[in-house]
Amino acid sequence: MKTRGNLIVLSGFAGVGKGTVLRSLFETREGYAYSVSATTRSPRPGEVDGVHYFFVTKERFEEMIENDELLEHASYVGNYYGTPRDYVEKKLDEGFDVILEIEVQGALNIKKKVPDAILIYMLPPAAKVLYERLRHRGTETDEVIAKRMKRAAEEAQSVSKYDYIIVNRDADECAAQLDTLIRAQRQSVRSNLPFIEKLQEEFRELSEKE
Ligand code: 5GP
Repeated sequence: MKTRGNLIVLSGFAGVGKGTVLRSLFETREGYAYSVSATTRSPRPGEVDGVHYFFVTKERFEEMIENDELLEHASYVGNYYGTPRDYVEKKLDEGFDVILEIEVQGALNIKKKVPDAILIYMLPPAAKVLYERLRHRGTETDEVIAKRMKRAAEEAQSVSKYDYIIVNRDADECAAQLDTLIRAQRQSVRSNLPFIEKLQEEFRELSEKE
């Protein structure tokens, strides 16, 4: 009997290093599936359609909303972002823990729709570290960086609505923390109800034979 996987939502300020931490997690651990989002923003250099995002037009995105193809969606600094539903459902059914790397609005919508989802927020050790990382990344203009920092300050207000935080001092260490958190969840009673019920049934049958 395959236990359904957990839905894990990972958020964090732009530039906090979610990408690097997740890469480390996926390279070194089994049992995880990454949900590739759809977005209307343009690809950054090196980003591949279908790997980092499904890059779609505004019209296509609106069609996806209309057809209920998205588990959640939100707009972020002038673009739409959303989670395609089918992949997530399929992987959860196969027993994978599915990670959604999404911003706060989407995360809170997921929590409403799927109360069992686990919300994790990745924080930098200090705000200044974030600003410097964002500038050094060099993929955004100063104007976009300023907008993203403003959004980070707003998002900071919502961290208390999450279940867990992890602090990214070092990507591998942070990936290990994330893995530990999620593994602990795999042992929760709630995640193992089918197994527990099966065992209860077996005990019942055995005791009736006595
Ligand atoms: P970026 O443009 O830096 O790749 O992403 C901007 C923000 O959008 C990040 O906070 C990222 O986590 C979030 N994001 C990415 N995909 C999704 C999604 O499918 N839904 C929502 N709500 N946010 C997303």
